Amino acid sequence: MGILVINCGSSTLKYKLFETKGERAISFGVIERIGEEESAVKYCIAGGRVNEKKRKVPSHDYAFGLVADILRDALCEIPDSHMSVDAVGHRVVHGGSKYSDSILIDSQVIADIKGYINLAPLHNPPNLAGIEAAMKVLPVPQVAVFDTAFHQSMPEHAYTYGLPYKLCEKHGIRRYGFHGSSHAFVSQYAADLMGLPLEEMKMITCHLGSGSSITAIQNGRSVDTSMGMTPLAGVMMGTRTGSFDPSITYFLEDKEGLSHKELDSLLNKKSGLLGVSGISNDLRDILSAAKGGNQRAQLAIAMHNYGIIKTIGAYAAAMNGVDAIVFTAGIGENSSDIREAICSHLSYLGVVVDKQLNRDADGACVVSEVGSCVNILVVPTDEELFIARETERCVADQCFSSAHEKPKTVVR
Ligand code: ADP
Repeated sequence: MGILVINCGSSTLKYKLFETKGERAISFGVIERIGEEESAVKYCIAGGRVNEKKRKVPSHDYAFGLVADILRDALCEIPDSHMSVDAVGHRVVHGGSKYSDSILIDSQVIADIKGYINLAPLHNPPNLAGIEAAMKVLPVPQVAVFDTAFHQSMPEHAYTYGLPYKLCEKHGIRRYGFHGSSHAFVSQYAADLMGLPLEEMKMITCHLGSGSSITAIQNGRSVDTSMGMTPLAGVMMGTRTGSFDPSITYFLEDKEGLSHKELDSLLNKKSGLLGVSGISNDLRDILSAAKGGNQRAQLAIAMHNYGIIKTIGAYAAAMNGVDAIVFTAGIGENSSDIREAICSHLSYLGVVVDKQLNRDADGACVVSEVGSCVNILVVPTDEELFIARETERCVADQCFSSAHEKPKTVVR
């Protein structure tokens, strides 16, 4: 079965085509700067070299047409393959309080994704554009996999804010959480790697990338997560503040005469590692500046790690213990220095990291010592593969339920 995974941002379209048997990626690519004068189309077929073309790509519709052409070529290039695109899985950022699971897309799902645009104004519109473009070109089942779905299991006391309850109810204000596909994927992977049942574990997953979020997972279910109603909350990130005193926003409005739009851009795009260091939002640049003695780079790294250490402590307390801590995404997977700095503050939990294993970590592995009270793992995330699996499951469920419906029709 061929499953195409689509992830549309405001000016990008990323795709990956999987052969579900063996979970092999047949082709993947990205179209960047959609809607600008010149767009970049990069793609790879059957493990070959990366092709890059410059084209004018005015819309997501047009971009999807290009992807369809690339896939036609990709499927021809694979010898003896009778593969086709049998279903499409879409990353959708916000599924509100309604969607706790992935779902086959119909007109009601589309209306709901539109309805959640006020909660994710930057993300849901391009996600929707991708769905609409794909539906026009590929008449196959389409599945929505929501970033928020995994966190719908949080208890009310974890997702409710201390605002007037009626106001929250009226506007859907609550913690939703994001990166759900990543937290779900790495938690299951980590449990499998340890040979332990996820359903009986307390786990903390740290997705540390450009955007970062940390999740407490008890018995396989998200019970708390650091991002909130929007991805701005939680730990400090590449360009986002993370959680901070909200009164500062009115203070800045007053003192700097900033509009809501300017504030939004300040908090989401100019803060975090970039804002504090004044150097870059890329941790690699900041680490090298810090090594060279730059004090603001050192401060930015100290703040970054301190926020993560505090959140891990809070979630260990919330679950009354933790069996495993998992590091993933760009920083979590690649920076042994950051992992070591964080874990060195977790000795109160009985964490003992094997420094050599941590430094040598490559791919999914355990980096704690055998006697450590908490297992520490590195697991590369694969949100596309998670979406492909979810899509296959939803399509199989549909076939199953329609197979069960058929006899009724015959009887009638
Ligand atoms: P995105 O959210 O864009 O997918 P990633 O998960 O790729 O982000 O993470 C990007 C972050 O990972 C950047 O801050 C980058 O500096 C960091 N990163 C990648 N490789 C390393 C490394 N070897 N050491 C430290 N940080 C790294």
